[in-house]
Amino acid sequence: MFKEELQTRAQQHLLRELSLINSPSNPVISVEGREVLLFASNNYLGLANHPKVKEAAVNAIEKFGVGSGASRLISGTITPHHVLERELGSFKNAEAALTFSSGYATNIGVIPNLATADSLILADRLCHASLIDGCRLSRATLRVFHHNDVGHLKRLLSGPRSRASTLILTEGVFSMDGDVAPLPEIAQLAEEYGAILLIDDAHGTGVMGATGRGTVEHFGLDPRRILQMGTLSKALGGSGGFVAGPKDFVAYLVNTARSFIYSTAPPPAIAAAASAALSVIQEEPQRRAKLWRNREFLHHGLVTMGFELTNTQSPILPIMVNDPELGVQMSQHLRAEGVWIPAVRPPTVPKGTSRLRITVTADHSPEHLETALRALRKVGTAFRVL
Ligand code: PMP
Repeated sequence: MFKEELQTRAQQHLLRELSLINSPSNPVISVEGREVLLFASNNYLGLANHPKVKEAAVNAIEKFGVGSGASRLISGTITPHHVLERELGSFKNAEAALTFSSGYATNIGVIPNLATADSLILADRLCHASLIDGCRLSRATLRVFHHNDVGHLKRLLSGPRSRASTLILTEGVFSMDGDVAPLPEIAQLAEEYGAILLIDDAHGTGVMGATGRGTVEHFGLDPRRILQMGTLSKALGGSGGFVAGPKDFVAYLVNTARSFIYSTAPPPAIAAAASAALSVIQEEPQRRAKLWRNREFLHHGLVTMGFELTNTQSPILPIMVNDPELGVQMSQHLRAEGVWIPAVRPPTVPKGTSRLRITVTADHSPEHLETALRALRKVGTAFRVL
């Protein structure tokens, strides 16, 4: 049964396989003994390999050991968890924050505590799988609004609503399209209709806003009216997730969020590394400035060459190829040219919207960007995409 299913996927060019990397997540990685330029990592600021972040993790291992030994409520809450949560709350200008072992665990833990079987959830069509799984666990009625379509959201809000409560879900920066949600309008609607708003800012945290606080800062919104989740795994260069909001909400989650309660606390070294990453984000704004310079350069190069991009406003630069087979073949040819750009296919993205998803980071040099553009021109021309 598994074999046939795998064969079917292979025939549809939708088979997924793991590639083995034998180096840190730097722009130049080692794959099967060969050096390849990586344009697929969410390590936007290069903090996964920052000396201060690594040092914080090593020091915490020396002091606290590797594993935390138990779940947070049993005996797993160790000083680095506590420090990090205080810092995350203040970074997000919220009263409090709670960390989870991943962004995925955050969403599936938080959403069932904001919506129950009597609630209505209105989610953007392109919301991440972890948000959707959180909705499923909540047993609430889920309605999907067209991507970034405030008019559609308003129609759904003003339709018949016999539900006890309403939750609106969107991403700040969309993970597969790189575009930004119209948060001011969405926040306004949430206010008008008395709905709760939860933003998944996994890709906005550390990247968006004058000081990297995320999409809420980017738009100058009042963070007290919005619940924000984020990850420690992307711009912060580590692993884990968090939600920031009112302190009563956080205290409630400690009592109820199943993925928080029934899972071993994240290693203290991972929390210490995230604290160091938060400091670096604030002490080295030049990293974010370089990320955005690189992003502008590559975006300009791709558009000038004639590639069809999404309406991206972030360091995620997806080239639309639509057909999964074309995506896979182009990705393989790019790999042969020494550039790693994955093809993202259904079910990660809707059918007919396969794409080459480029992510650019602060660690890319001008030469790296030129190499990528050269390879993309060659492969794009060979496959008549240009
Ligand atoms: N939300 C979004 C929008 C994401 O892109 C991701 C990561 N792919 C997650 C949540 C989950 O985060 P994590 O990888 O830390 O589990």
